[in-house]
Amino acid sequence: MPTQSHPADEALAALRARVTEAALAAGREPASVTLLAVSKSQPVSRIAALAAQGQRDFGENYVQEALPKIAALAELGLTWHFIGRLQANKTREVAEYFAWIHSVDRLRVAERLSTQRPAHLPPLQCLIELNADAESSKGGVDTGAVAELVAAVRSLPGLVLRGFMAMPAPREDPAAQRAVFRRVREAVAPWMPPLDTLSMGTSGDFEAAIAEGSTMVRVGTAVFGPRQC
Ligand SMILES: *Cc1c(COP(=O)(O)O)cnc(C)c1O
Repeated sequence: MPTQSHPADEALAALRARVTEAALAAGREPASVTLLAVSKSQPVSRIAALAAQGQRDFGENYVQEALPKIAALAELGLTWHFIGRLQANKTREVAEYFAWIHSVDRLRVAERLSTQRPAHLPPLQCLIELNADAESSKGGVDTGAVAELVAAVRSLPGLVLRGFMAMPAPREDPAAQRAVFRRVREAVAPWMPPLDTLSMGTSGDFEAAIAEGSTMVRVGTAVFGPRQC
């Protein structure tokens, strides 16, 4: 592939710098925050361009859209994260083609993923999605029901529970952003450690999320620019 300069090149470097700065400001190791590039609606060529700059982790929301991209880029050995709402009839594809799922919020889906995870692959890395935020319509398990789901998911052989994900409704005010991420951090504190992954923060609020302990930020528009469709 020709090494062609693209605005996204600078966007990735700028975003990495902001992630590093946010981690340092919080007194944390920059390496403790993984950047997940959310590539929904972005074409294979844009994903390949970021991969050429060393970006390894990519997030997709829709199974149907993701599978051809994963197939087209298979040789690059990228790490694919499923971050969208998952219908029970799409679990097989996620179990077969993804390394991570961030959006487990009910046992039935977790059980299907575990059963359908191919034996030749390592267990699917799994995050339980929390509904941290009454304003959000995105789903997720209520904080009062987390303990039960943690215990159930831990018993499934095809999955390895790594931690939690939250997607609060967008807020402008950084103090309000921090308050909701802090509630998430406190709600999951009983399990972290040994669980080590807290997926929170998007383009508009990842700095607040890092200040509140996020270990994985899911960033789309700030790295790719506006979505293509
Ligand atoms: C789209 C999406 C993101 C990225 O949002 P941006 O605002 O583009 O950074 C992160 N997480 C989830 C679950 C998403 O659906």
